[in-house]
Amino acid sequence: MKYTILTLLFPALLSCAMAKNPVQKELSIRPGEVRFLEFNIPHDKVRLFCRDQEVKLQKSGKKGQAVVIESYFSELKPFTCYLKDNDQNLEELFFKVENREYKAEQLRVNPKRIKLSPKDQKRANEEQLVLNKIYASSLNTFQFKTAFKEPMESHVTSLYGTRRVYNKKKKGQHLGIDFRAAIGDKVPSTNAGKVVFAGDLFYTGWTVIIDHGLDIFSVYGHLSKPMVEAGEMVERGQIIGLSGNTGRTSGPHLHWGVKVQGQYIDGFVLIEETKKAFKE
Ligand SMILES: [Zn+2]
Repeated sequence: MKYTILTLLFPALLSCAMAKNPVQKELSIRPGEVRFLEFNIPHDKVRLFCRDQEVKLQKSGKKGQAVVIESYFSELKPFTCYLKDNDQNLEELFFKVENREYKAEQLRVNPKRIKLSPKDQKRANEEQLVLNKIYASSLNTFQFKTAFKEPMESHVTSLYGTRRVYNKKKKGQHLGIDFRAAIGDKVPSTNAGKVVFAGDLFYTGWTVIIDHGLDIFSVYGHLSKPMVEAGEMVERGQIIGLSGNTGRTSGPHLHWGVKVQGQYIDGFVLIEETKKAFKE
């Protein structure tokens, strides 16, 4: 309170010599989640660091935006983000990492789907290298000015984070969201961005990947047909493909994945966070 009054009375005095106390905030996040942050920034030299690593900031005028994630494989350790102007901390955000229980499901599948043949393994490995390159070269500004949107309004058949036990042995987790879809249903992009991949992959079949900038990607898997090509810019809601059952799947559906800063996170949380940020 006192600080606010001082700011009103002596803006010039405060802005020059005195080292201001940083704004401090307490926030929370859970494994597999994302937070959309907004800052007031005095100039565009301001940088953001979380867990001792720089997090890219979207800067426009006096406004800064960034996303912070917590890995699905979190160890629930608290961390701090610092908004810095050279050595001075403008803001300090203390993140508490709370637990999030994900449901488990038992699946019986053809053992061949679990133990890959050398040929399939080689193919999957090679594709992973291509994908790694794509995920390492995101555009350096947000490509969207609106909130993310569900790709389909149909029933969700598998939520993000579901733990899966295959044939009572191998364990895994589903790090995307599955929507009920027939073969040939239209699949819209969940936000504006650039198509960075449209091709056939071993696991997710015909797949479209969209780069939304600053290491935010959306992935659309098991398509019967992509309707866009790599390099194309797309708007939110633009049809990027038709749903199907290509790749390793037991039936037609849309698999929607969201990769942020190298980790798959819960797309529904990104939708909620960006709705708040963009006031939708
Ligand atoms: Zn899926």
